[in-house]
Amino acid sequence: MKPKPIVEPIKIEKVKLEELDSILKSIKTTDSLRYEAIKEYAGGVCMLCAQLPTRLVSYDMKGAQLVERYCDKCFEKQKWDE
Ligand SMILES: [Zn+2]
Repeated sequence: MKPKPIVEPIKIEKVKLEELDSILKSIKTTDSLRYEAIKEYAGGVCMLCAQLPTRLVSYDMKGAQLVERYCDKCFEKQKWDE
């Protein structure tokens, strides 16, 4: 089990989200382009399913900051110490 993290929503402007959405929907978008696009708009992909993340989860591990990103679905499956 991991220590209780700080959870923040990943906010993407509506315009940017629409832009990203059209990139992700395009049949020309390959897996690596998709990864790069999500990384550019959201800072990274969901660490479990590589989809667009909605939450930024950070842990303070003895002074070192550990940051993970999750989509809604994967976030709900996580368990943390209370
Ligand atoms: Zn996910």
